[in-house]
Amino acid sequence: MLEAIARTFFGQLFIAWLLLVLGDFLSTFCYHVPEHVFGRLHLQTHHSAKKTFRHYAILTANLQVLLDGLLGALPYLLMAVALWSSSPIGVVGGLLFGQFHVWWRHVSALSWQTPKPITFLCQVLFITTPEQHWLHHQKTNTGFGDIFTFFDQPARAWMRFLRWLRLYRRYLPV
Ligand SMILES: [Zn+2]
Ligand SMILES: [Zn+2]
Repeated sequence: MLEAIARTFFGQLFIAWLLLVLGDFLSTFCYHVPEHVFGRLHLQTHHSAKKTFRHYAILTANLQVLLDGLLGALPYLLMAVALWSSSPIGVVGGLLFGQFHVWWRHVSALSWQTPKPITFLCQVLFITTPEQHWLHHQKTNTGFGDIFTFFDQPARAWMRFLRWLRLYRRYLPV
């Protein structure tokens, strides 16, 4: 019986992890990186200099900030719908962790430093720390993968390709 409970618990944990991985993947490759190359909304709202923790981590009444936050969160919500029948608890757990991570990855704006044991744990689990995410705020072509660090390298390659595409399109005869 214990084995069955453990299997159920790990099953739910897996669904939560899957929601976050697929959500972060879609958010990074379908919204975040293309928005950096072709758009202006995310750059204006999320990378504008010297904004507060509240601005970055909490959806303010500003319509543009709201839109950027909602577009970034949409893939997670789609995954939540897709995975709901597999495990509602896993889906709710994944969404709660995702929301917690939005707040946590912006605590650098409050001059907070991640304790070493937590940094080590994040390295093992490939989870983006506030310090790594802050690099993205300062230098927009690094530190991709809002939640998972393994999306950083492929996201940079995707960015190079999209930049090349933008340049190529500019010189195409119309
Ligand atoms: Zn951020
Ligand atoms: Zn960005």
